[in-house]
Amino acid sequence: MFFCACFTAKPIANPNKTTTKMAKYVLEYLWLDGYTPVPNIRGKSQVKEFASFPKLEQLPEWGFDGSSTQQAPGGSSDCVLKPVAIYPDTTRRNGAIVMCEVMMPDGTPHPSNARATILDDEGAWFGFEQEYFLVQDGKPLGFPQDGYPAPQGPYYCGVGYKNVGDIARTIVNEHLDLCIDAGINHEGINAEVAKGQWEFQIFGKGSKSAADQIWVARYLLNRLCEKYGIDVDYHCKPIKGDWNGSGMHANFSTAYLREKGGKAYFEALMAKFAENVAEHIAVYGPDNHLRLTGLHETQSIDKFSYGVADRGASIRVPHSFVKDGKYQGYLEDRRPNSQGDPYQIASRILKTISEVPLP
Ligand code: ADP
Ligand code: MN
Ligand code: MN
Ligand code: MN
Repeated sequence: MFFCACFTAKPIANPNKTTTKMAKYVLEYLWLDGYTPVPNIRGKSQVKEFASFPKLEQLPEWGFDGSSTQQAPGGSSDCVLKPVAIYPDTTRRNGAIVMCEVMMPDGTPHPSNARATILDDEGAWFGFEQEYFLVQDGKPLGFPQDGYPAPQGPYYCGVGYKNVGDIARTIVNEHLDLCIDAGINHEGINAEVAKGQWEFQIFGKGSKSAADQIWVARYLLNRLCEKYGIDVDYHCKPIKGDWNGSGMHANFSTAYLREKGGKAYFEALMAKFAENVAEHIAVYGPDNHLRLTGLHETQSIDKFSYGVADRGASIRVPHSFVKDGKYQGYLEDRRPNSQGDPYQIASRILKTISEVPLP
């Protein structure tokens, strides 16, 4: 009898209950520091256990030393990292990249947190065209140690060693794969007008998505280049003279622009952009006067203009926009430069749009 009681007291396994096997995930938390006029991307890793690739809601907040990033005084240095987007990182076993907003300990956005200033709008879409130079030993790839390579002309979408060198294409293709693996809405790449200059394009639906993805794509590019001993120069005019600068054209649309539009609304919108030139230029990246000269497919920094298919205008209006007199679709603001913070750029564009009453 005694034996029997002992036997029945043992817990009976529930056949419906499956045991979850936990695995360790390496989470790279990214955030923007407090440097001005443009922030830098920072990242650090933490290891956490999950049953499967974590969802955003499962990610804990984390902290960092804001006194090392120009975001807090040493005496009260803790800043909070609030996860806002997660991407797989195939370069690491069970790896993930976690884009974060920087918050104050009381839960309000840190003053450096430009993402928090972007109006929430699911109907807002952005497409950014990020241009940049790959540099080694202080020179764009393919520039001789003294002097200059052959003038611009053959490099744009060029092929062959004399046009793109021996390593750049390996890097940009690897970067493209990394972005696609991360689920980034990467749209394509091209060799640009200057030697050593490249572009990638990223598109996102929702007011913050494309900007998040640009920052993660910049991070992936910078990190990838480490192993080649190469740096990415995002400055908008790294080489003086007859060499193209780097931009980050901001293509944008709202649900109203795509679905209703119309000439009167478009003209009211452009009048509002014209009123806010200084406010826009203030967040379109540093040293933009060196790039927006009126040459090299740009408008001068002190002028505002728009035009159909006009690459010398501040805002280029695609042919598709004016087709059949509809004034519907997206517009391209050509002024933002390669070093601009896409959060600040998206925030300003949507603010100006919000100041125009809908008919
Ligand atoms: P170009 O170099 O001629 O300016 P690209 O093809 O490099 O043109 O870039 C065009 C950009 O416009 C892409 O990033 C694309 O995502 C973006 N775009 C296209 N349609 C829309 C839209 N409806 N709203 C916002 N952006 C858009
Ligand atoms: Mn382009
Ligand atoms: Mn370009
Ligand atoms: Mn463009």
